Amino acid sequence: MLSRTEIERLAAAAHELRPDWPVKSLCTWLLGTHANRAYRDVAVALAWVACDPQTNTPKRMDEAGPWWQAVKVAGSDATDHRYARCPEPGHTSFPAANCAACRSEKLAAPDEQTAAPTLAISADQAAINERGAANAKRALAHHTARTTRTKEQPE
Ligand SMILES: [Zn+2]
Repeated sequence: MLSRTEIERLAAAAHELRPDWPVKSLCTWLLGTHANRAYRDVAVALAWVACDPQTNTPKRMDEAGPWWQAVKVAGSDATDHRYARCPEPGHTSFPAANCAACRSEKLAAPDEQTAAPTLAISADQAAINERGAANAKRALAHHTARTTRTKEQPE
């Protein structure tokens, strides 16, 4: 877990290596995405990414890449060397910063909303549902009347 001071130092170091990366943005990103990592792990990965000519943005570090291999070689004892996993149930094989399951669920959601009104039930099923609802309402009304009576006129 990174402290506020460690995040500021890492951001300042990355900014020295890449003056086009603003310190404030680096702090926000590190706090939101890598704050649960070890200080040295983030320092190694961030230095790798910052010194790589193919890197345009520090967020490249969110992906699985050779920088996490460098972290491992550097002797990390942190739990996950590769990338932070999505915390959603069933998503833990996907990276937190780029979860394919979350993306797919977001895409699926509007379809489900538009599909819902077209879901039709048969007239028989509608009658069964209606009877069930009426029975439930009667049972609730009966229970409420009984409890109220018992409270008002205890035996
Ligand atoms: Zn997810």
